Amino acid sequence: MKKFDYIILGAGVAGLSFCKRISETSESMLLLEKEDTVGGLARSIYYKGFIMDFCAHRFHTGNQNLLNEILALDGLEMTKHMKKSRIYMFKKYLRYPFELQNLFRAMSFLQFIKSSLSFAFNKIFIKPNPSPVSYKQWFEKYYGKELYKIMCYPYTSKIWKMDPSQISADWADQRFQGEKMSKLVRRVIKKILTFDFSNFNLDDESLIPDGGEFYYPDNGFQELVNSLLRTSKKGNLSLETSISIVSVSKTNKTLVFKKNNKIQKVKYKNLISTIPLHNFYFLQEKKSREVEENLSKLKYLDIIFVYLFLDVKQVSNDHWLYFPDKDIIFNRSVEFTTWSKKMSPNGKTCLCFDITVKRDSLLDKYNNREIISRVIKDADRIGYIQKNSVFDTKIIRLNNAYPIYTLDYKNRLVNIVKHLETEDVYLLGRTGIFRYNNSDNSIEMGFKLADNFIKKEKIKSILDYSFKEVSY
Ligand SMILES: Cc1cc2nc3c(=O)[nH]c(=O)nc-3n(C[C@H](O)[C@H](O)[C@H](O)COP(=O)(O)OP(=O)(O)OC[C@H]3O[C@@H](n4cnc5c(N)ncnc54)[C@H](O)[C@@H]3O)c2cc1C
Repeated sequence: MKKFDYIILGAGVAGLSFCKRISETSESMLLLEKEDTVGGLARSIYYKGFIMDFCAHRFHTGNQNLLNEILALDGLEMTKHMKKSRIYMFKKYLRYPFELQNLFRAMSFLQFIKSSLSFAFNKIFIKPNPSPVSYKQWFEKYYGKELYKIMCYPYTSKIWKMDPSQISADWADQRFQGEKMSKLVRRVIKKILTFDFSNFNLDDESLIPDGGEFYYPDNGFQELVNSLLRTSKKGNLSLETSISIVSVSKTNKTLVFKKNNKIQKVKYKNLISTIPLHNFYFLQEKKSREVEENLSKLKYLDIIFVYLFLDVKQVSNDHWLYFPDKDIIFNRSVEFTTWSKKMSPNGKTCLCFDITVKRDSLLDKYNNREIISRVIKDADRIGYIQKNSVFDTKIIRLNNAYPIYTLDYKNRLVNIVKHLETEDVYLLGRTGIFRYNNSDNSIEMGFKLADNFIKKEKIKSILDYSFKEVSY
């Protein structure tokens, strides 16, 4: 039986980053991936001359060392972009995210008065909740109740299919950085209180909370993924794709998987899992009623991606467009041509619309034809596309896309991870450790776990690891 120092389950960016770091040693690795390609949520799809991502993946990090390491990857060409996103509200396209001035300008006069008074009142008289539990409390702490109703509730409840009062504030903390957000809020308050409306124009780039810069590989995000794989292969790595894992025995430190109907058994010194928590639990033999109860309460949202191929050069200049309106079936759209001209054949463009779904919900049960025609109808109705320019369509259903942070998710997660991370098993990555994070954070986690092994740290788990910089 073959023995490896590390067996890694899942070849998303977390698993690949772990391999990249370990490849600097002579230790052996076996990377197992169920799909026929590497990249997980960050992979690209190639279709009739178009390159598409799941929505689209910008690479952005405030961690300079991480950025340098990624930019230095062998053969990776990335272009720097300034983020352009808008949100469709009040039948207008406004800058997104959180550009209060534009929002105020777009509202009716009455809404403007109510929202600004509530916002100012909140800042001056209400002692902020020091430790908000829910996303609703978190949002109201910064923006007040009126803006919560207008800005937060519609889009958040549409994406998550639940009330923001039931979503943990951890989600906001992981998505937005307190320091930058408070700086932004202070600026907006100052402008409102001093009646300084001079900068209330659509080009006020300085109010975009993340500064707006990001990198994108010219031939799709898969290029970044492939570069991680190329570097990892310089080490002692074996990769098996299109496999299915049959079982894991922690007691014998063995794993059984199937490829081309052939069963193989391998032995490991350390096992790293980046596959969804639930799947991993049921593969290993150690069962617990309490853990199963906790697992049953931790859920992921799935996403339906609808791709429309249009016989026009370009539809808009935005990287993202957001649609909080409940009468519009999709949440967001992305036009790949905006990210890189190489993503579409000449004179044609492709739009990707994402629709979040709860497994087995009514929406999930709609058939593909119904969903595609509703997307085309809604996009045409709001003047975003002209339906007769659509010449082809494609739909992909992606499971376990977003971990749902319910109010009590953290305690449940800790219990599950403690149960699973025994006998040289470690969890890693977005789906692997149920952490709502971007690709740079999955990469950072992969590097960190590998470093913990290389430096022989006593505690290797990254459950309590805080990212150097949270990206959003
Ligand atoms: C719609 C959407 C948009 C996003 N946009 C951005 C963005 O703009 N910028 C950004 O930085 N990040 C973005 N992200 C987040 C980013 O995709 C993730 O953080 C990152 O790709 C997660 O990588 P991972 O390796 O941790 O997990 P995953 O990508 O989930 O990797 C897990 C791997 O395990 C494999 N696997 C699962 N089950 C098994 C099994 N039983 N056996 C073997 N293999 C298995 C999967 O196929 C996958 O390859 C976005 C995510 C989504 C869903």
